[in-house]
Amino acid sequence: MARINDNFLKLQAGYLFPEIARRVTAFTEANPDAAKNLIRCGIGDVTEPVPEATRKAMHDAIDELGNRDTFRGYGPEQGYEFLRDAIVENQFVGLGIEADEIFVSDGSKCDSGNILDIFGPGNKIAITDPVYPVYVDTNVMIGNTGAANEDGSFEGLVYMPCNAANEFVPAIPEEKVDLIYLCYPNNPTGTATTREQLQAWVDYALKNKAIILYDAAYESFIQEEDVPHSIFEIEGARECAIEFRSFSKIAGFTGVRCAFVVIPKTLMGQKAGGTPHSIHSLWSRRHSTKFNGASYPVQRGAAAIFTDEGKAEVAELIKHYMGNAKLLREACEEIGLTVFGGVNAPYVWVACPEGTDSWGMFDRMLNEANVVITPGAGFGAAGEGYFRISSFNSRANVEEVCKRVKQQLG
Ligand SMILES: *Cc1c(COP(=O)(O)O)cnc(C)c1O
Repeated sequence: MARINDNFLKLQAGYLFPEIARRVTAFTEANPDAAKNLIRCGIGDVTEPVPEATRKAMHDAIDELGNRDTFRGYGPEQGYEFLRDAIVENQFVGLGIEADEIFVSDGSKCDSGNILDIFGPGNKIAITDPVYPVYVDTNVMIGNTGAANEDGSFEGLVYMPCNAANEFVPAIPEEKVDLIYLCYPNNPTGTATTREQLQAWVDYALKNKAIILYDAAYESFIQEEDVPHSIFEIEGARECAIEFRSFSKIAGFTGVRCAFVVIPKTLMGQKAGGTPHSIHSLWSRRHSTKFNGASYPVQRGAAAIFTDEGKAEVAELIKHYMGNAKLLREACEEIGLTVFGGVNAPYVWVACPEGTDSWGMFDRMLNEANVVITPGAGFGAAGEGYFRISSFNSRANVEEVCKRVKQQLG
């Protein structure tokens, strides 16, 4: 009989979203009228349409494919030059990143999981708590962890708690770790990091020969001056970091699918014998073997967000979501709750009032305000005591949510 990968059996049956669905269904059955007005601020999916500049570029690309003279088959696995150049010229100006250090893909979720292909066994892995669950589960699948503990954490991972006391940026670990997952601006907490805080992490990584896996999926939402857009703004990062970027949240691409990984050619890992080896060359080999490139129309659509028309449309989208975040922040503050995030990211992270835990707040928001949020505990043990409100919604829905929060929970 064919042997399976037993590591998969260590994975917890998806708990968070099934449990949310179970509670929402129970509510809907018990309160069919109220359920008609239910507003969902739980999941992290965008709601506003893909920019016209992108749609037009994709239509044109499809027409090219319909003509023998302009038809294109397989493209370069690492992405078309037109997109890699546009990315560097628009998002990495002055950071020393070159177009051949960009690897275009069909999503950051896959990239952040697939990257483990090029790292060997025995690495010590550090992740933040709360965390984007993909980082944990992909390490479980590949055998980098032991069994699950009762609280949902895994043996063998180094968990770094993020809370109000450390401004949601983890303390530098006492021990030596090899791979560090950081996500800023952060999902789920909606908080950002300053240059100084990120510099401390880069310094740690350089000193310990560790690699930082930096997820910047929410980069485009940054509003404040002292918040770095890329880890490559930090001195030394070219020697210790990989960055993940996605078009999903910036331009309504969650269904279109396009993202990229930035790997400097100066980044090294070590071979079994201890000698250094290029990470860039390994990922290039991995990408060419297991991936045949993102779709041509999609890459044209992604490149279009860097045209003048595209930039203007993206700016409107960001303004819309960040306007929503501001309203949600203010509504929660008005009823005396302590609010984090929502300034440089589209998530608002709210401290539960004394005496209520995060599932308790989930139930109150559902029953009293008929609003679905995400309980912080679902993202890790350190998320207990908080809940997440997503600002990915229409303005009308967000205004209604604010009204209900003030009337029902105030
Ligand atoms: C949404 C999101 C992504 C983007 O994933 P895609 O696969 O590109 O859609 C990456 N990281 C985090 C933390 C996210 O929330």
